Amino acid sequence: MQTVVAAGRRLLEALLAGLLPADCTLCGAPLPWRQAGGVCLPCWSDLPWTPGLRSGRGPLRAVLWGGDYRDPLRRLIRGFKFEDMDDLGAVLGAELARRLGPLLAGGAFPPGIDMVVPVPLHWWRRWRRGYNQAEILAEPLAQALALPVRTDVLVRRRAGRRQLGLSRRDRLRALAGCYAARPGVRGRTVLVVDDVLTTGATLSACAAALRRAGAASVIGCVVARTTRN
Ligand SMILES: [Zn+2]
Repeated sequence: MQTVVAAGRRLLEALLAGLLPADCTLCGAPLPWRQAGGVCLPCWSDLPWTPGLRSGRGPLRAVLWGGDYRDPLRRLIRGFKFEDMDDLGAVLGAELARRLGPLLAGGAFPPGIDMVVPVPLHWWRRWRRGYNQAEILAEPLAQALALPVRTDVLVRRRAGRRQLGLSRRDRLRALAGCYAARPGVRGRTVLVVDDVLTTGATLSACAAALRRAGAASVIGCVVARTTRN
């Protein structure tokens, strides 16, 4: 009987191995099929997590980040964003929540967050990509904080052009009027979630829209920040 069970298990594992990615996304080592996110444990523990917090500029009260935007974290975020590795997003979001837990639960700062809001994509880009990466990251974070995710309070009205290579000032100019917030945020403290912080222009533009709609305070949160932040 035991041999039958063992044979059954081997067959099941063989089937699953055929269905799921077999190699680690980062080092290429064969993965046990249970590995979440397609990254082996040694690679996962080598990611450059350096959780931190700094005060924000303009409408943004503060910014939190999980790590530095450099390889191998950079490679994972790019894969998640551009190569349809959307299952990786949930794992990254959960890890971000775990890393930021002590900062967020510390009590001193940031006080009284009411809701988690992912940076929205323009509907066209959302439709083309099939998902909003910020939304996938925001879910486990909100769950860890026992807060609601609100995808209905902030919208991106214009698609805008590619931001790559633009200075902060040019990005801010390009993003002016791109985002609009609903009155549901009035008097609330909002945690806005994005994948990467480069110049901070996106988070600033979202924070400006939320403040215009009456939000009391806006705090940004990203998986990784570039070194100039
Ligand atoms: Zn690996």
